[in-house]
Amino acid sequence: MNNKPKIGVYVCHCGVNISKMVDVDAVTEFASHLPNVKVVRNYSYMCSDPGQLLMREDIKNEGLNRVVVASCSPRMHEMTFRKTLAAAGLNPYFLEMANIREQCSWVHEDREDATGKAKKIVSSAVAKVRLLEALYESEVNVEPATLIIGAGIAGIQAALDIANAGFKVYLVEKSPSVGGKMSQLDKTFPTLDCSACILTPKMVDVAAHPNIELMTYSKVEEITGYVGNFQVKVRKKARYVDMDKCTSCGVCAEECRLAGRIPSEFNENMGKRSAIYLPFPQAVPAKYTIDPERCLFLTRGKCGKSPKCVDACLAGAVNFEQQDEIAEFKVGTVIVATGYDVFDAAKKPEYGYAEYENVITGLELERLVSASGPTGGDILIGKGENAFVPKEIAFIKCVGSRDKSVGNEYCSRVCCMYTAKLAHLVGEKIPDANVRVYYMDVRAFGKGFEEFYDRVRREGVRYIRGNPSEIFKRGDKLVVKVEDTLTATPLEDEVDLVVLAVGLEPRKDVREVIDLLRLSQSSDKFFLEAHPKLAPVDTATDGVFLAGCAQGPKDIPDTVAQAKGAASSALVLLSSGKVKIGAQISFVNEATCRGCGYCVDICPYGAIELVEINRMGNILSVARVNDALCKGCGACAAGCLSGSVQQRSFMDRQILPQIAVLGVMR
Ligand SMILES: Cc1cc2nc3c(=O)[nH]c(=O)nc-3n(C[C@H](O)[C@H](O)[C@H](O)COP(=O)(O)OP(=O)(O)OC[C@H]3O[C@@H](n4cnc5c(N)ncnc54)[C@H](O)[C@@H]3O)c2cc1C
Repeated sequence: MNNKPKIGVYVCHCGVNISKMVDVDAVTEFASHLPNVKVVRNYSYMCSDPGQLLMREDIKNEGLNRVVVASCSPRMHEMTFRKTLAAAGLNPYFLEMANIREQCSWVHEDREDATGKAKKIVSSAVAKVRLLEALYESEVNVEPATLIIGAGIAGIQAALDIANAGFKVYLVEKSPSVGGKMSQLDKTFPTLDCSACILTPKMVDVAAHPNIELMTYSKVEEITGYVGNFQVKVRKKARYVDMDKCTSCGVCAEECRLAGRIPSEFNENMGKRSAIYLPFPQAVPAKYTIDPERCLFLTRGKCGKSPKCVDACLAGAVNFEQQDEIAEFKVGTVIVATGYDVFDAAKKPEYGYAEYENVITGLELERLVSASGPTGGDILIGKGENAFVPKEIAFIKCVGSRDKSVGNEYCSRVCCMYTAKLAHLVGEKIPDANVRVYYMDVRAFGKGFEEFYDRVRREGVRYIRGNPSEIFKRGDKLVVKVEDTLTATPLEDEVDLVVLAVGLEPRKDVREVIDLLRLSQSSDKFFLEAHPKLAPVDTATDGVFLAGCAQGPKDIPDTVAQAKGAASSALVLLSSGKVKIGAQISFVNEATCRGCGYCVDICPYGAIELVEINRMGNILSVARVNDALCKGCGACAAGCLSGSVQQRSFMDRQILPQIAVLGVMR
């Protein structure tokens, strides 16, 4: 098509960002003598409307067929200028950016040196631009459905938003009920809304919504494909209870031979359940499940003469013949909302969590103060006749957060406020209790948080600045050893109960999801977002979004906001129905590919596979790129030993002349 290159070079002043350190007139004059350059201009802001107009007019009037813009990083304005070229009728990939700002004016202190370097950068861009080829983006259809992994408040909210917009949602939750950690909370800071009261209606809504297919007690086993076209395989584990028949009457659990003998996960192992159980009274779906690791019939093959639950269930719902089922479906987008685990307090042995029954975590106290908890809402420590109501109560903050010794440098963002909330609730339940909080800092950054913290202190909760070094037993009291760092006073504080404000951590089984979707983790091991500020719900995998604490610690309002963000990002794809596939992607010259598979190993997006081809009767293995998965990072092209993998716009024959020019100018 374009025979002889006619190049326009546009040198930007970027206000004074470039022109202060680079002599833009000298660069303009220099560029005018470069081969095939027909027009050279400099202008104060090339990205402005008048700047772009200059280019458009030159393309039309001077017949330019290649453009070099010498300005900022391509990350800033490559898209802007591609659109300018397209608006003037030129293929948008006939553009080369010469970065004379970040890579030149901003990093030099000598104007002469900077100007010399700017000339080199421009000449190398000119050497490359004439070799660029026209590229065309392609489109693929988007399956109008979303998979959401995890049905805590994040997954629930995202599911409702997408379903309400008219799209199908597959909501997969690994535990028998939806709700996540929020269902374990009693009240929520700073407004003290009852957690169950605001969560349960949403739990019921997701189960009843015609556009949501809820799969609880299920596990995503495989996800293949790419944005717009993911194939998903889900294992629905056998509950050994027929969901259609179970009326949730609970007689089976009462009759179970292990009734009241198995620690209840929902109650943080403080209460007991049966082998056939409903995780908590408001569970959704309200259907019983048999724990296959505990049930006597499933583990030993017998439970008395016959399993008592079978005899007790008048609906005939218990079914030991039930098998796992596999569901397979296609979705266009995926939202990961797998939440968090709380820090294991036993990793701080100095606090005696595993040793003393009156050292508990914040989440355990949530269950104790809850009316649906193991004590019916009473704060009782110890068992049976020895159970007592604590009067001297100490909270310790930042347990497992901001603590390099346990590998968690980050702040968990909710512990300051849930401590204030629990301190308040303790005051409500035990009015004559003395409550103190040992803290390093108080971070009350959210709406209404500072006011709530003030309120709690006005109610009599004492805040003592100091990080306890040890907890030990003296008689029937616990001693908190600490230095009050504001008065430099060593203290040995005798208390009845210590509550550890444990931080939030990535889930221990996080690897499962990483392997499914090839997601990355940030240094704190939570899932890594595509950009911390500008793409906080996106991931490096197109069409896969993050919601809630899976991405990092956050409270419920922030979780809900992020879930709505993830839902809206998914909806952009679902509602457009099509997604563009980048043009600057890799391709393989199958004639020279040796099928070594090195590119397959180094591709971070799983975009390359080895396929067998028949070359003149010989079956050979060669690499093949999936265009929809390739992100154009170039790792495969750089790594290919035979030069068979090339990346469009960055092919060897395009970038080697670019480098050669720099050598000549040295
Ligand atoms: C003690 C304590 C008190 C708190 N109090 C408050 C408060 O008062 N106010 C407030 O705003 N915030 C509070 N929080 C924070 C609150 O718990 C979180 O903001 C909220 O629960 C985050 O929701 P989520 O959906 O992101 O994660 P989660 O609640 O952890 O839900 C994740 C869900 O995903 C499921 N899941 C995980 N992996 C998979 C998988 N591979 N496949 C399928 N399903 C999976 C889990 O089973 C779970 O149901 C508190 C936290 C703690 C620890």
